[in-house]
Amino acid sequence: MPLLAPDRYLTDVHAIDLDALAADGIEALLLDIDNTILPRDTNSVPPELIEWVVGLSQRGFKVCLVSNNWHERVRIVATELGLDLVAKAIKPLPFAFWLATRKLGVRARRCAVIGDQLFTDVLGGKIVGAMTIMVLPLSETDLPHTLLLRRLEARIMRGARADGSQRIDRGVDPT
Ligand SMILES: [Mg+2]
Repeated sequence: MPLLAPDRYLTDVHAIDLDALAADGIEALLLDIDNTILPRDTNSVPPELIEWVVGLSQRGFKVCLVSNNWHERVRIVATELGLDLVAKAIKPLPFAFWLATRKLGVRARRCAVIGDQLFTDVLGGKIVGAMTIMVLPLSETDLPHTLLLRRLEARIMRGARADGSQRIDRGVDPT
C-alpha cells in the first residue's frame, strides 16, 4: 500500500462521488479545514462549501474536522458548521485520526480522510488505514513550510491529474 498515493485525487470536494463512497462502505469523513473547506486567505467557509458540508450529514455520513491548526479560527468554523473537531492534530501522526474515529464511533477503515496535503492528510490517513481523498488547495496562500512541501508534493504527484473540473477551469494545476 503506497503511503503517498491518495485513493482519489480530485479538483475539489464537490467532485467527490458520495454515492460511490457509501457503496464502498465509507460511513464517516475526516475533513481537513485549511485550504480544503476554508481558503487560507479568508476567514469564512464559502457558502457552497457550507452547503456541501451540511449535505454530508443529511446523506448519513458522520463528519469530524481534523486540523493541524490550533487557532481559534478553526474552532469557530467547527461551531458554525456544527461539527466535531480535533485541532492541533499533528497530522500525519495517527493520534488525531484515532481520536476522531472514537468521537464518531466508527472504525478507521470505514472513514475517508479528505484534505489538500499529501504529507499530512494522505499520509496520515494511510497510516490509520482510511480511504484517502486529496483535493487541490482552495488558495495559493499557505504557511511557508506547507509551500515548501507542496514543491515536493508536486514532484511525487507528477503526471497525476486531479479529476473534476471546477478548479482546473480556474487554472490551478497541481504540477
Ligand atoms: Mg489543509
